[in-house]
Amino acid sequence: DRIFKGASKTREKLGVVDELLTYWNLEDAEDTLEELEEALITADFGPRTALKIVDVIRTKIENGDLKTGADIRRELKSSIVGLLTQRGGSSELSLGDTKPAVVLVVGVNGGGKTTSIGKLSHKLSQQGAKVLLAAGDTFRAAAAEQLAEWAERSGSQIVVAKNNKQRPDSLMYETVDRAMREELDVVICDTSGRLHTNTGLMEELAKSKRAIGKRLPGAPHEVILVLDGTTGLNMLNQAREFHQTVGLTGIILTKLDGTARGGAVVSVVDELGIPIKFVGVGETVEDLQPFDAQSFVDALFP
Ligand code: GDP
Repeated sequence: DRIFKGASKTREKLGVVDELLTYWNLEDAEDTLEELEEALITADFGPRTALKIVDVIRTKIENGDLKTGADIRRELKSSIVGLLTQRGGSSELSLGDTKPAVVLVVGVNGGGKTTSIGKLSHKLSQQGAKVLLAAGDTFRAAAAEQLAEWAERSGSQIVVAKNNKQRPDSLMYETVDRAMREELDVVICDTSGRLHTNTGLMEELAKSKRAIGKRLPGAPHEVILVLDGTTGLNMLNQAREFHQTVGLTGIILTKLDGTARGGAVVSVVDELGIPIKFVGVGETVEDLQPFDAQSFVDALFP
């Protein structure tokens, strides 16, 4: 399937793990474990997460629980699935009991934010929800136009800035207000992801989040980071910065149908404890799948 195809970059780098384990020999376990750790780091798992995985394997070898290369491979896979599920928590959207549910979506430009919002909106509309989008990237006119196209495609409504002076926080306040008055089910807020004015961007996101909560206490119910699946370890730095500013509750990992480097997301989930909720596997409205840790890991270690 497409996740399998897309995990190609990481899988390629993990090929060396198979080689290591094929010639596994208990006598030189320590050398092999070091090479295994190295291989995981090269495959973008990040030094801390790689060390953690290898430490667990080392202990199990010492206890006599793992004897063959096949045992170790099985343990390697199940420990990554474990990291992705236990550290990550639920991969369901939790939209609360009261309406509207508000989802704030953040991420750097080009990562697939607008596309993912379109896909998510489509999914929710198909489940019968009335969805309202907020074109919160008020700095780029093209961003609002692009989101408006997705609104049409997914059968949802959209609020765009009245003029080029309206700030994102005011737009989001207004959007939530309208959803409350019209008794709509879900609000999804797009945001700016320009990187060149980073501090300004982070302040603006924090303000937008506060404005949403001011209109509707308890909102936003989800704060989703869209991560480009083709990014390597830089993913972790990005995620950390957004998490510090807006407190993330979930991740959408995009472009897994391309030459993705999915390994890096394991360290994001492990270090920040944020679950992956969905994966993007293409450019159409249908190409959003719920995240499944086991099939993700099966794609990395076929
Ligand atoms: P934004 O700047 O973060 O809003 O990013 P966009 O939503 O505009 O997406 C940037 C580019 O990535 C566009 O060309 C999208 O079609 C493409 N894209 C987004 N998600 C996916 C995905 O899951 N798979 C593929 N192949 N392309 C994607």
